[in-house]
Amino acid sequence: MSIRDEKRNVLPRCIEVRGAKVHNLKNIDVDIPLHEIVAIAGVSGSGKSSLALGALYAEGSRRYLESLSTYTRRRMTQAERADVEEVRYVPAALALRQRPGVPGIRSTFGTLSELLNSLRLMFSRLASHRCPNGHYCAPSLSVAAMQEITCPVCGENFYGPGAEELAFNSTGVCPTCGGTGVVQTVNEASLVPDDSKTIDEGAVVVWGTLMWSLMKDIVRTMGVRTDVPFRNLTPEEKEIVYHGELKKHHIHYVNPKTLEPAEMDFNYYSAVNSVKNSLAKVKDEKGMKRLEKYLEEDVCPDCHGTRLSEAARAPRLQGIGLDEAAAMTLSELIPWVQGVPASLPEEMRPMAEKICESFMDVSKRLMDLGLGYLSLDRAASTLSTGERQRVQLARAVRNRTTGVLYVLDEPSIGLHPYNLKGLTAVMDDLKADGNSVILVDHDTQVLKHADWMIEMGKGAGADGGEVISEGRIEAVSENPESVIGPYLSDQYQSRIRLVMQEKAMFEKGVIHLETGAIHTVHPLDVRIPMGRLTVVTGVSGSGKTTMVLESLIPALKAEISGQKLPEHIKRIEAEGIAQVKLIDATPIGINVRSTVATYANVHDELRKVYAKTNYAKEHAFKAGAFSYNTGKLRCPTCDGTGEISLDVQFLPDVKIPCPDCRGSRYSKEAFTILRRAKDGNEYSLPELMNMSVDQALHVLEGFRVLQQRLRVLHDLGLGYLTLGEETPGLSGGEAQRLKLASEMGKGQSDSVFVFDEPTIGLHPQDVKTLLHVFQTLIDHGATVVVIEHDLDVIENADYIIDMGPGGGKEGGRIIACGTPDNIRQNPDSLTGKFMEKR
Ligand code: ADP
Ligand code: ADP
Ligand code: ZN
Ligand code: ZN
Repeated sequence: MSIRDEKRNVLPRCIEVRGAKVHNLKNIDVDIPLHEIVAIAGVSGSGKSSLALGALYAEGSRRYLESLSTYTRRRMTQAERADVEEVRYVPAALALRQRPGVPGIRSTFGTLSELLNSLRLMFSRLASHRCPNGHYCAPSLSVAAMQEITCPVCGENFYGPGAEELAFNSTGVCPTCGGTGVVQTVNEASLVPDDSKTIDEGAVVVWGTLMWSLMKDIVRTMGVRTDVPFRNLTPEEKEIVYHGELKKHHIHYVNPKTLEPAEMDFNYYSAVNSVKNSLAKVKDEKGMKRLEKYLEEDVCPDCHGTRLSEAARAPRLQGIGLDEAAAMTLSELIPWVQGVPASLPEEMRPMAEKICESFMDVSKRLMDLGLGYLSLDRAASTLSTGERQRVQLARAVRNRTTGVLYVLDEPSIGLHPYNLKGLTAVMDDLKADGNSVILVDHDTQVLKHADWMIEMGKGAGADGGEVISEGRIEAVSENPESVIGPYLSDQYQSRIRLVMQEKAMFEKGVIHLETGAIHTVHPLDVRIPMGRLTVVTGVSGSGKTTMVLESLIPALKAEISGQKLPEHIKRIEAEGIAQVKLIDATPIGINVRSTVATYANVHDELRKVYAKTNYAKEHAFKAGAFSYNTGKLRCPTCDGTGEISLDVQFLPDVKIPCPDCRGSRYSKEAFTILRRAKDGNEYSLPELMNMSVDQALHVLEGFRVLQQRLRVLHDLGLGYLTLGEETPGLSGGEAQRLKLASEMGKGQSDSVFVFDEPTIGLHPQDVKTLLHVFQTLIDHGATVVVIEHDLDVIENADYIIDMGPGGGKEGGRIIACGTPDNIRQNPDSLTGKFMEKR
């Protein structure tokens, strides 16, 4: 036996999880093959993330951190021990999460992907640099070595910029905008929104909200009339109001408290200065929000949005500067980069080839993942979560790690079926390098690519938390215990809705939208049938978001409220439409006090129910008293937040459940106010808040309104959520469905519902439920528009609008529209090709 074979027999083959009790996991033991691609499937809430992230990743990353020096460790947030008896043979773990953190203002596609590093290196080492006399001096090997250049034209010696000096997050930063590419200026029109008012009547709104009303008294002493309509003031008067000098004025005024006349010296803040002054002092999000309406963002006048200083833009390579190269899309930039070595003197080519190679290495992945339409200077904040996650993935493979456990949380988000092969190729490469890949996903195409599957279930929450089936894909798909099995089979039929006849499609009316060009999207002429399910498809970057979220929604909103249409909208017709609702996966409630029950209007109703108890009546507790935010019955220790901050010296603040109410947010008294339920028991409000939706549905039988509202949550597959669970902690998919729940049952025949990838986090079985929900909305007369890649949803559309053909400059048009059959038969439609295959 060779040493290699011997090792193979000794080395562990599996991660062994023993006694996992994280969240709803039922003390499970499970073996996860190492060095393979392992898919974890299951309905939402079944415990996939609890196993993948809560147990495996948490243990993997904790051990990894423990192996670091104490110094590094202290500076990281303390990782809590996962609730698992034992995890053996877990490698150091990296997780690519569904919701990557909000990127900084200075991060771009170029910085995130690290492509900008290679590009900067090219410009610093290979470009022609401008010498102090303004000549462009061709590069030579000496530049590359030490950046010392001899300018052949004037014979002078000088130093060319290093890569650092070309970086907008370093010394190459544009001094005007600080590397953000934008400047904030005061929008003067917003300062006086109604110029028929006088200054005394509050024409200058910022003086009412941001500054003391004393400014009115000051401008009066400066000769501005404050009792005539603002529009009738002379240009000189207006100039004082907007831009008057910041200096002290002696004024006589009436003290608003004592109503006595008084006098004092006071600084004059013009309308514009008031905003600037507040901007300099603003401390929190809330304050910023208040100011935002007076500000507008402009492209930085000095760097034109490139974020780079003039010096950093100066070096030339193949005739262009770093800023111009960064503005090209990746698909355009690649051939340009490939041309670099040949454009240089012979002796520089080997070095050039090396730098270009490293660029090509990274960009190949990004192209495979369908991101070629992005330019390096694209602000990261404008990328979708799917796009950001794919950038992370590309980086992960490039780092050529080995022996690492990668935990991927729904990597198929935002990916058209066409791009899925790029994703599976990345997973294959990670595996080939000796890593292990665990992915939580729902997309059956991606699941089928795994070597091994672990299926959680059977249901969600308390009904889940167990492994119901595991093995190779074929084994799972044939296992009668498996819920996902039938969906993995090639025989699976996804159409469950009736097919809409083409003739009848526009019977209920049409929404007609005409747009001008925006980003890379061409002018569009879109017709959306009212009262139908329309699905907008296309590869990523093809223009779906631009058409639906940036055009259709704002156009409808403007039309409904009678406001000016956004600039790029030519026309919108939508007779009879009175509201438009976007239901997306952004987190709910920056307000930490929002819970499932409050958001779904269940809590309001419960409060009323408890206010009717005898105890409440005797003690004059109205419904308001039962609010955990403001009510008398909230826990006095934590003020109804359910947790308290421990101020431990030298450590970051640690939040722990409130010791008095144990996280229930309610006072002891609230626990004594009971209400009898159908099951014969008596429950307090805090006890109910600790129940899942499904449990509450059961014990609250007979309460009509509550039943209705809870039933909607149940029907949307959210029955496993706890009523008192905080909404900011919900996953994107859960948040989206909760938003939908709170919209159900309101007036619908005049409504347009827009969904952005509603299948995020949904098991194929849950997708069926979602389709039934769409049907319910449509039965009530609503118009439903969905951006989606999931083939089950696409197959069930009444009407499809397919965008493309590619992403970015290769996209931006409507390629085909019609019924699923129309699309399937359309040779130009990429989406149609994938539908055919099923
Ligand atoms: P999945 O990933 O399959 O959708 P999860 O592992 O996220 O399922 O959730 C499984 C169960 O654990 C659900 O009942 C969920 O409500 C619960 N759960 C998830 N996260 C937490 C948490 N941070 N605290 C308490 N319970 C949680
Ligand atoms: P999809 O939703 O189909 O993925 P998008 O509508 O997001 O496509 O993008 C269409 C095109 O518009 C792409 O080339 C994209 O890079 C570009 N784009 C989208 N948003 C912005 C933005 N905020 N700034 C610049 N370009 C953008
Ligand atoms: Zn600038
Ligand atoms: Zn408390």
